[in-house]
Amino acid sequence: MHLARFPRIRLAHLPTPLEPLPRLSEALGVEIWIKRDDCTGLAGGGNKTRKLEFLLGDAFEQGADTLVTQGAVQSNHVRQTAAAAAAYGLACECILEQRTGSKAIDYTRNGNVLMDRLFGAGIRTVPGGSDMPAELEKTAAEVTARGGKPYIIPGGGSNPVGALGYVDCAREIVVQADELDMQVDRIITATGSAGTHAGLVAGLAVMGADIPVLGIGVRAPKAKQEENVWKLAHATAVLLGRPDAVTAEMVVADCDYVGEGYGLVDDAVIEALKLAARTDAIVLDPVYTGKAMKGLIALAKAGRFENETVVFLHTGGAQGLFGYESVLAAGL
Ligand SMILES: *Cc1c(COP(=O)(O)O)cnc(C)c1O
Repeated sequence: MHLARFPRIRLAHLPTPLEPLPRLSEALGVEIWIKRDDCTGLAGGGNKTRKLEFLLGDAFEQGADTLVTQGAVQSNHVRQTAAAAAAYGLACECILEQRTGSKAIDYTRNGNVLMDRLFGAGIRTVPGGSDMPAELEKTAAEVTARGGKPYIIPGGGSNPVGALGYVDCAREIVVQADELDMQVDRIITATGSAGTHAGLVAGLAVMGADIPVLGIGVRAPKAKQEENVWKLAHATAVLLGRPDAVTAEMVVADCDYVGEGYGLVDDAVIEALKLAARTDAIVLDPVYTGKAMKGLIALAKAGRFENETVVFLHTGGAQGLFGYESVLAAGL
């Protein structure tokens, strides 16, 4: 594994800190550390920034001048893509899917959407359930028709090139843990469009680190999520020249904490947001890390992590909180 072989531009503040969470650990009776990928820097940070380093590297190699991507209305990925485009003088066209169905003014105007507009991205909104890959192709064709050179970034930046960002994060975690003489028993992450989970699994496998990753699903049911992650982890290992490194058993997702659906908040998510904030002052988000923490809390209370040292990957998203004020207010 030698990531300098892949084109890359620099966007993130790396390495992100790996820190203990003493008060949350005490509250849950499990030793929990946190990998601060909410501190990657760009536009407030988050996990998409690592992926975008490799995706923009590829975009420049292909001579692109316009990034085209998609996400839910409160997409953290779209925010970070719009910021990366601004920082490198590219145009950015975004398609926002009304995936949650929310018409609340904070959801449609504040949080990530406000920042997309601040970065000057073009925004087109489509109904929930739209064929988003087809929408990407349509926008890319429009860019081409006006003489531009589009570069399509799939939802969440989740393809093998984007997943290289989390191969690099896996390496970072192992190096940091080794420097601390700290044995990591498990890494826990939210898993959505799969690139983060897949990149971690591929990176750890290629290194032979033997650290299991538990993905807490935020959208798809378990079988579908594990299939998506496995396919992408395998494709990433192929890109790294190690096609046999990842096995299906390495891919584990627990999708019991999705609740009503993607981007829909329940009481246990609000309790998770409050617990993280009121123990170690960690700001989670309502769509991804809040659900992952909801899962971590339930599993810890059920004794799943007994005598383990667990690393919780904070994938960012706090900017989305401001799109959920009307949903969260009563619970605070
Ligand atoms: C996109 C996102 C995730 C999920 O990462 P995937 O690579 O899409 O699985 C988790 N947390 C936050 C805050 C995100 O924005």
